[in-house]
Amino acid sequence: MDYETRNRMNDEKKYVVIVERLARRGVNEMDIAKITYKLQTQYIPDLEMDICLDHVKRVLKKREVQNAILTGLELDTLAEKGMLSEPLQTIIASDYGLYGIDEILALSIVNVYGSIGSTNFGYVDKVKPGIIGELDKKTNGKVVNTFLDDIVGAIAAAAASSIAHKYADADFDTELYKKQ
Ligand code: MG
Repeated sequence: MDYETRNRMNDEKKYVVIVERLARRGVNEMDIAKITYKLQTQYIPDLEMDICLDHVKRVLKKREVQNAILTGLELDTLAEKGMLSEPLQTIIASDYGLYGIDEILALSIVNVYGSIGSTNFGYVDKVKPGIIGELDKKTNGKVVNTFLDDIVGAIAAAAASSIAHKYADADFDTELYKKQ
């Protein structure tokens, strides 16, 4: 088997693990797709939920994204079990406002999609739509969502950017063809 095929298979395997871990923390792909829809529907009037879900899946299959998710979820889970050493244990368990590494980790997800990714992420971080607001209020029954809320926002923002790039390209091409 060549390297490319093996890498792709590894990313697919990790994708399955990640979807399962997110579900354990009370988040499914559709929850994220709903936020992506909210972010993009004003720009693409005929946008469908299926397209949003498809782009969320694409984002979750990217290695940089997968690594960020695995790291963040692990830290939330360990903090929940009281297994980190101090002072990090208290910082993460109490979601200390000036910690900031949860946002930095989430930015590594949106950075894959350029500047439009960061703009979308800033918006969801402020408005906290849908599942992000619920995670903030901890309605998923988990005690520590310090990394998870930012990760979910970043995945939704990244998927919105992925859609934006695709449709912007399509518009651009159409205009070009008209001029030929
Ligand atoms: Mg956070």
